[in-house]
Amino acid sequence: MTNTMAKLIDGRAIAEKVYVDLRREIAELKAKGVTPGLAVILVGDNPASRAYVRSKDKMCRELGLHSVKLELQASTTQAELLGRVEELNRDPGIHGILVQSPPPEHIDEAAIVRALDPRKDVDGFHPANVAKLVLEDSSGFVPCTPLGVQRLLLESDIDINGAHVVVLGRSMIVGKPLALLLMQKNKNGNATVTVVHSHSRELANITRSADIIIAAIGRAEFLKADHVREGVVVIDVGINRVEDQASERGYRLVGDVAFDEVSKKASAITPVPGGVGPMTIAMLMANTVKAARQSL
Ligand code: NAP
Repeated sequence: MTNTMAKLIDGRAIAEKVYVDLRREIAELKAKGVTPGLAVILVGDNPASRAYVRSKDKMCRELGLHSVKLELQASTTQAELLGRVEELNRDPGIHGILVQSPPPEHIDEAAIVRALDPRKDVDGFHPANVAKLVLEDSSGFVPCTPLGVQRLLLESDIDINGAHVVVLGRSMIVGKPLALLLMQKNKNGNATVTVVHSHSRELANITRSADIIIAAIGRAEFLKADHVREGVVVIDVGINRVEDQASERGYRLVGDVAFDEVSKKASAITPVPGGVGPMTIAMLMANTVKAARQSL
């Protein structure tokens, strides 16, 4: 074992690079009379969701985008929410609409997603955008976290083309769209993708054969040194709270990867926080700018 520390993939620095390009594109759109606009709808008062919505709104303002933040009471009905979505669908100043997940239990989230104008679905969850991802139609919107993971790899000069990528998790938000994206037949894809989930057998044998592992399962420090081979690239999507009395908040955030041990074998790895998280929000901004561009 070489025991050298892996190169740290700095999501914050790469997100800043994305913002440099976006600022230029936003200025060009403004010169044509279009200010990209994003509306975020939050139903209820889930503290984590509230924090996410706040940071999205803040980033819009920093970039000079038009930002609308709709905070609706937890008692909002399905019909009221659909009415809000329809208003935003019709609003020419809004190019992207996002309904923060998870909504309260009485809301049918899939029906809300289907009600979005697919041209404004910057989260990429509408069936029309899922179909475009499968069909490799680049006019569609790809979910922000998978898009951010791909950008992290590309900006870090990690060769996806021909690599064996093992994706842990098959959610519609991360694992499944990520697998589709990285297997696309183009120079930013062309990976051989294996997806593992909670029913997979011989998980460690599969992960040990990976050139790139992307962990998105929501299990604190699940991926251990024994799961990986020397030189692997590891992208950690997980965000998990673990109790920590030493911390002021009583908890700390960790990923799905046991960072200390895996980073000794990996050639490159993302930290948590500071890896995938900042890229997710950067890709939301990028999708909003794309929606504005496509509206011209
Ligand atoms: P999710 O919907 O709960 O899906 C988890 C997936 O992992 C499922 O496919 C599940 O398998 C699989 N899984 C669970 N335990 C497993 C195990 N022991 N072995 C193998 N597979 C297992 O989660 P998600 O929404 O995709 O999120 C995953 C993690 O990423 C969470 O920690 C979340 O907080 C984080 N996240 C971060 C960002 C970001 O911006 N950084 C964005 C989104 C999510 P089954 O399908 O068989 O149940």
